[in-house]
Amino acid sequence: MTQPAPIGPVDASAVPRYAGPATFARLPRLDQVTRADVAVLGLPFDTGVSYRPGARFGPAHVRASSKLLRPYHPALDVSPFAAQQVADAGDLGINPFDIEEAIRTVEHASNDLREGGTKLLSIGGDHTVALPLLRSVHRDHGPVAVLHFDAHLDTWDTYFGAAYTHGTPFRRASEEGLIDPERSMHVGIRGPLYGAHDLTADGVLGFQVIHTDDYQLQGLATVIERMHARLGDGPVYVSVDIDVLDPAHAPGTGTPEAGGLTSRELLHSLRALVGTDIVGADIVEVAPAYDHAEITGIAAAHVAYELLSVLALGKPS
Ligand code: MN
Ligand code: MN
Repeated sequence: MTQPAPIGPVDASAVPRYAGPATFARLPRLDQVTRADVAVLGLPFDTGVSYRPGARFGPAHVRASSKLLRPYHPALDVSPFAAQQVADAGDLGINPFDIEEAIRTVEHASNDLREGGTKLLSIGGDHTVALPLLRSVHRDHGPVAVLHFDAHLDTWDTYFGAAYTHGTPFRRASEEGLIDPERSMHVGIRGPLYGAHDLTADGVLGFQVIHTDDYQLQGLATVIERMHARLGDGPVYVSVDIDVLDPAHAPGTGTPEAGGLTSRELLHSLRALVGTDIVGADIVEVAPAYDHAEITGIAAAHVAYELLSVLALGKPS
C-alpha cells in the first residue's frame, strides 16, 4: 500500500508565521493525518521537580517558539516535514496530584501512540516522564542505549523518601533493566554533586559520562567520536534536559547550573547522530516563567528540529 504524501506545516507564504495553528511547527494535528511517522506529544507535568516549578507550561511554550522553523535543513540536506509525516498529538492529560498515576498515564499513552510504528518525540514536562517513556520503548525494543543530555545525572535514589522524581528516572530505569548498561551515556554533566559516590554509583548503574568540560578540553569532534563509540549500532533513546545548556542559552528551566553547553554545541552534537537508530526522544525541563525573549523555547524547538531531521534520514540499512 502506498503512503499518502506527508502533510507539512501551514504554508508560510499564505499564512504568516506568527499566525496559524498552535501546533508544533504549525504541523497538522495527529487526528488530521492517516498515520504519523513521528508524533510530537506534549507532557504538561511538573509534580516531580525539586526546585523551581513551572515545566508544566513547557509544551505550549516550545510550540509557540517553533513557529519560525523552516522546512529545509541545509547542513543535513533534508526536509524533515516532507521526508516523513510529523504530526502534533496535543497535550496528554496527566494527574498533577499523583505521581505514580501520572507515570502510568504517560506509559499507556506512549504505548497507544507508538502502535503501528509511530515514533514519539515528547516535550515535557519535568524529567520524571523519561521513566514511563523508557518503559514503553523497552516493551518493543528491549534494553536501549540512553543518550542523556543534562547538567545532572538524574540517577539519585530518592528525595524525601520519594522514588519517582525528576532527579531519579535513570536510576529507576537501570534498576528495571530498561537501559543497556554497556551503551548508555550522560552528556553535559557539570556542577556540584552530593559527593564523589554520586559518580561511582552512576557508573555501576550503566552510564558513561561526557562532562561539559570535555567539550572545551577535548573538542567537539572527540566528544562526538566518544558518543558514537559508546552508542554502537543498537536502538538509542535520546533524552534532552534543556538545562544541559548554559543558563545564558536556556534561562527558562528549573534547576540551572552555570558553565553549560552553548546551543550551538548541543545542536551540533544532535546533528551528529545521523546513522544512529533513534527509537524515541524527549525534551524536558523547559519552564517558561523564567525564560526571556523565548531564548529557552527557541533552543528547545531547534533541538526538536535536529532530532526530527536525524529521524527523517533514518538508520543506515
Ligand atoms: Mn537537569
Ligand atoms: Mn534532568
